[in-house]
Amino acid sequence: MLDLTQCIAAKTPVLAHANGDAAIQLLIDSVGSAIGEAKVDHRTVIIHAQLMTEMQLDQAKALGLVPSFYAVHPYFWGDWHRKIFGEFRASRISPIHSAVVRKLPFTIHNDAPVVPPMALRLMSIAVNRTTRSGHVLGPDQRATPYEALYAMTMGGAYQYFEEGSKGSITPGKRADLVILDTDPLQIDPARIAEIRVLETIARGKTVFRRDGSE
Ligand SMILES: [Zn+2]
Repeated sequence: MLDLTQCIAAKTPVLAHANGDAAIQLLIDSVGSAIGEAKVDHRTVIIHAQLMTEMQLDQAKALGLVPSFYAVHPYFWGDWHRKIFGEFRASRISPIHSAVVRKLPFTIHNDAPVVPPMALRLMSIAVNRTTRSGHVLGPDQRATPYEALYAMTMGGAYQYFEEGSKGSITPGKRADLVILDTDPLQIDPARIAEIRVLETIARGKTVFRRDGSE
């Protein structure tokens, strides 16, 4: 089995779960000792990165790690997190805005099958951060609709070293596409989750089309 230093030297992508701040620190420190002072484009992914601190975001930026935030947490478990983490730590789970201001590349995800892989709900929760009880959890960490969409498209492509061939609708790139009934960048952010998919095109073929009877 390869260790982290050998993986990075062999250009093998490393994607590791690290959810609490202690686990995240372990991963950051491991990357730090693996690459030392060298400038290496390794894009090691911190999967979930839920309790990533401001200092850890700085370290990730300096060392080239990419957090993938489990951004649906505020809705599904946010009310619970306020009780178990306390108000301050709960309010900055999935600290998307702190990543944006640092220009730190990141992605957001659902972690299916823990929660169903519904892309527009993921975008909605990243943008609104509303809990099940209706509390807005950490409003200053809300993503803009564009930031959330970018994280799910270009961010994902970058995370996998595929930004040259995927991630945006650009001649020469590969893409599966959806046609939505409303522009998610124009609609009232509170209504993003209501947007409906009209058609899905995968590998060049229509695989879903809403029949209009609904
Ligand atoms: Zn997981």
